[in-house]
Amino acid sequence: MEDAAAFSRASPRAPEANTVKEDLTTTEGNHGRAPSTSSEGLSRSSSDKRKRKDSSSMAVQRRTEAAAIMEYDLATSFEVTNELQTPTWVYDPVEGRTLWGNEAVVAFFGKTSMDEFLAHHMDADFAAKARRAAAGEDGASQAQWKLTALPPSSPHRDGAMVGAALTIRFRVVSVRGAGDVLLVTANGGMFDSIHTLRSLESLHREMHHAAPELDDSLVGAPAAGDTPDHWLHDSLRAMEMLKTSPIFTFLFGTAGDLLTANPCAVAFYESYFAIRSQEGKQISLQNILSVADLGDEETVAYPDGNGPPAASGEGGGGSDATVTALMDHVRYVLFDQKFESFRIQLKMAKRRDPKKHRWVEFEMWAARDPVTDKGAILVNQTNLQETKRLELELKGKHDDLRAKNEILQSELDRANRDKSESLDLDSTVDKTINLLEGIIRGNQPTEEELRALKRALRTRNLRAPNRLEEMLLGNKAGFEGEVGLSLFEMLNPNTKSVPGQPLSARENSNMRRSLSRNSTMELDDDNDEKAEGEALEPAAAGPPRQPSAGAAVAEVLETVDEWFFDAFRLEECTNGHPLSVLSCHLFARLNLYETFQIDDAQFFQFCLKIEQGYPNNAYHNRVHVSNVLQSMYVLLTKGLGPRLAGDHEIAAGLLSAIIHDYEHKGVNNDFLIRFQDDLALKYNDRSPLENHHVAAAFEVMVTKPHDIFKQCDPEVFISIRKCVIEMVLATDMKIHFDVLGRFKQIEEKVREGVEDLMPEDVSLALQVCLKCADIGHCYCESNVHLRWVQKLEQEFFAQGDREEELGAVAKSPLMDREKAGITKSQVGFFKIVVVPLFASFCKAFPSAEPMLSSLNRNLELWAKVEEEQLEISEVFEVAGADQTMR
Ligand code: 5GP
Ligand code: MN
Repeated sequence: MEDAAAFSRASPRAPEANTVKEDLTTTEGNHGRAPSTSSEGLSRSSSDKRKRKDSSSMAVQRRTEAAAIMEYDLATSFEVTNELQTPTWVYDPVEGRTLWGNEAVVAFFGKTSMDEFLAHHMDADFAAKARRAAAGEDGASQAQWKLTALPPSSPHRDGAMVGAALTIRFRVVSVRGAGDVLLVTANGGMFDSIHTLRSLESLHREMHHAAPELDDSLVGAPAAGDTPDHWLHDSLRAMEMLKTSPIFTFLFGTAGDLLTANPCAVAFYESYFAIRSQEGKQISLQNILSVADLGDEETVAYPDGNGPPAASGEGGGGSDATVTALMDHVRYVLFDQKFESFRIQLKMAKRRDPKKHRWVEFEMWAARDPVTDKGAILVNQTNLQETKRLELELKGKHDDLRAKNEILQSELDRANRDKSESLDLDSTVDKTINLLEGIIRGNQPTEEELRALKRALRTRNLRAPNRLEEMLLGNKAGFEGEVGLSLFEMLNPNTKSVPGQPLSARENSNMRRSLSRNSTMELDDDNDEKAEGEALEPAAAGPPRQPSAGAAVAEVLETVDEWFFDAFRLEECTNGHPLSVLSCHLFARLNLYETFQIDDAQFFQFCLKIEQGYPNNAYHNRVHVSNVLQSMYVLLTKGLGPRLAGDHEIAAGLLSAIIHDYEHKGVNNDFLIRFQDDLALKYNDRSPLENHHVAAAFEVMVTKPHDIFKQCDPEVFISIRKCVIEMVLATDMKIHFDVLGRFKQIEEKVREGVEDLMPEDVSLALQVCLKCADIGHCYCESNVHLRWVQKLEQEFFAQGDREEELGAVAKSPLMDREKAGITKSQVGFFKIVVVPLFASFCKAFPSAEPMLSSLNRNLELWAKVEEEQLEISEVFEVAGADQTMR
C-alpha cells in the first residue's frame, strides 16, 4: 500500500520518502550535535543568550518569554514538517546560519542531504529579511524573496523560480541550545509548516484539556508537568500510528468533505472509486456511504438501532436523496443528539467482483478539525466480513446441525419403531388377551382395533407374531437379506420349501431318486449291526457292557450340575460315547433306575443303540445331544425345580433329550419336504424329522433287547411316552411361536407357584425346557458356543452343497458356502428366537437367570462382529478354551 503517497490528501509523498528520511536520520544526528560542536555553539552559554537578548529588539524579547515555554529540539521537533512539501528550514539570524531543513527544502535547493543544504549560504537579501523579521518589524514576518541562483541539481533551476519571487514566512521559535531563531517556510501551499506545528500544539492542548483558548501567538501553554518534547513526541507517534494503522480512519468535514485519512483508507477508496487525488477529485463521506444500496434492508444495518427514519417510498437505494438524508441524520445524531457514536453496517460490492459482497461497519464520532477548529466527523471502518462470515458459518452450522438432528431424530424414531417392531412378537392371541384385559380395566377399544383383531382372528396361526413376515422379510435392520429369509423359513409354518423358487427341471427329476442316494445314512431299523458298525468311530470291538469311568470322565461329570458345560470335553474322554456315559450317569444319580424299574445294564445298551443312531453330522450328532441332555438336566432340576419336575417329568425330560434328534439326516425339514424324502412322505410333510426322531426311538425302546420300560407300570410308561412325544415334537422351530405363545400365558402362573397347575401347563413347561436345552449352546461359555455355531454353519453349508448337487436353482438362505453363513448373522437369531425364549423361561423360572446373562454376553459378541465388521477371531477367544467359567 502506498501509505506515504496516500497519507494526506493535501500532501502526497513520493515512495522514496523513506530513503530520504534515512539519510536525514544520520544528518540529523550530526546536526543535533552541531550547535554544541561548532565553536559558536560551544560558546553559547546563558550569558551569551543574555547578550543576544540585549541585542535583540523588544519584539524578540516578548516572543522569548512565550517561546521559552515551548522550546523546540532540532533533532526531533521539526521532523513532522518532512510530511509537507513546503520547503521549511530553521535559520539563525544572529549567526546567519541555517540550522535545519526539511526534505522539501533540501530537494528544492537541489541538495542530496541536509548537511549539503546546511552548507548552502542564503544570500544577503534573505539574511536581511530574516533579521528584520527577528527584530519584529511590522510586516516583516512575510516577505517576497527573489532567488538569484539555484544549483543545476535543483528541480526548479530551469523553471520560473530563478528570478521569481518566493513568498517566505518567518516565525520566531526557541530552539534548545540555539536560543531564539527563525522557522522559515517558502511558498507555503495549503498547509505550511507553521500551521502544522500550530495544529500539533493545539491538538496536544486538546488532548490534555489545557488552554482551551487558542491565541494568535501560535504558542500555547502545555499542561503542568508536561514538557514540550513529551507532547511533540506524543504527537509524532500518534501520527505514525495513524499512518501505519491498517484500520481505515477518516476525518471528514461536517459536509462530508475529506479532511484527511490514513494511507490505507485513501489508497483503497481511490482504487475503489477509480479516483486520482492528483486530479483534484476527492473521496467524500457521501461516496463511501453509497457503496451499498441504502434503501435495501438487506444491504444496510444499524446495529445500535439508531438508523434514520424509514426512507420515503420514492427513495431508491443509494440515490442522492437517500445519501443526503443519511448525512443529515449522521449530523443530527452526532452533533444534536450527541450520541457517543453512530454505527452503520453496509454490504458493499467487492472491488474486483461486484457480484460478490462483504460487510463493513462504519463507526462515526463527533470530532473537531484542529486546523479550522470546526466540527468534523471521525470515521473508522472495520471489516465485518470475518464476523459476518463467522455469523453465516455459525448459522450454516446451526442449520446443518438442525438438519442432522432431524435426520437423527427420524432415525431414532425409526429405530424405536424397528425395535418395537422386532420386539413386537405379539400374536393374535396375545393381542386379544391384551385387548380383553384393557376392557376389564375399563378401556374401550377403538373400532379400528376391533376390526383389526377380527381380521387377525381369521388367520391360521393365532400364536405366531402378527408382524413376523413384515419384520423378517421387510429388510429391517438386523434381518437384512438372507438373515430374515432364513429365520422366516425356519419359523413360519406356512413357508413353501423355498419361497418364490420353483424347482428346476433337474431338481424335479432328481427328487427321491437322488435323495435316496444322497441320504446321510440308511435308515434301516432292522439292521442293528450295520447301524452300530457305521455309526461312530472309534468303532468299539464290541459294545461295552458298562459305561467307561476313567478319571477324566469323572472330572467332566463332576461339572454336570453346573449351568455351563462343555460336551466336547466329554466326548474326548468317553471314547466317543458321551451320550451313553452321560445318560447312565444322570439316571443313576437321579435314582431313576429304581424309580422306574429300569435295568441299568439294559439302559446302557439302549443308550448305546440310540447313540449309534446319531450320524456324524457336523452339528446334529451325539455331542450336540449330550449337550442338550446336560442342559435339560440342569433346566429341570435347577430351573423348574422339584415342585414342577418330579421323577416322572425328569425321566421324561431326560429321555426326550436323549432321543430328540435321533437319526437326524443333517438336513432340515424344508429339505426333506422339498426333495420328497421318505420321511416327508411318511409324515405328510409335518415335522418329518421330529416325528421320525420320536417314532424311531420309541420303536427301539419297545423292542427287545432295548425295551427298558418293560417292568414299568404301563400307565406310567404311557404318560412318559406322551410327554416325550410332546416335547420332541415341540422342538420343530415351525411351531416355536405357538409353543412360546402358549407358555407366555402361564409364565405368571408358574412363577407365582400356583398350586393347581394343569397337566397341560406342566407339559408346556417341559416343552419349553427342551426347546431351551436344544439351543442351550447359546448360553455356553463363548468359545464353546462359537464351536457349536461353527458346526451348525458347516452342516448348513453341507446342506447347501447337497441342494446344489440335486440341481436346486437356489440354495437355502445362509447355506451357500460361497456366501455368508450363520456366523455372520447370529444377532438376528438371538433377537428373534434365543432372547425371547430364554427371557420367557427365566420369567417363569428366575433361578435360571445365569443363562440369560451368559447368552446376552454372547449376543454382545455377535453384535460386535456384525456392527464393527470384525473377524470372529477378533471378538471370540478362539484358541485355548477357558474351562474356568463355571
Ligand atoms: P434342532 O435342529 O437342534 O432340534 O433345533 C435347533 C434349530 O435351531 C437348528 O436346527 C437350527 O436351525 C436352529 N439353530 C440352533 N442354534 C442356532 C444358531 O446358533 N444360529 C442359528 N442361526 N440357528 C440356530
Ligand atoms: Mn437338537
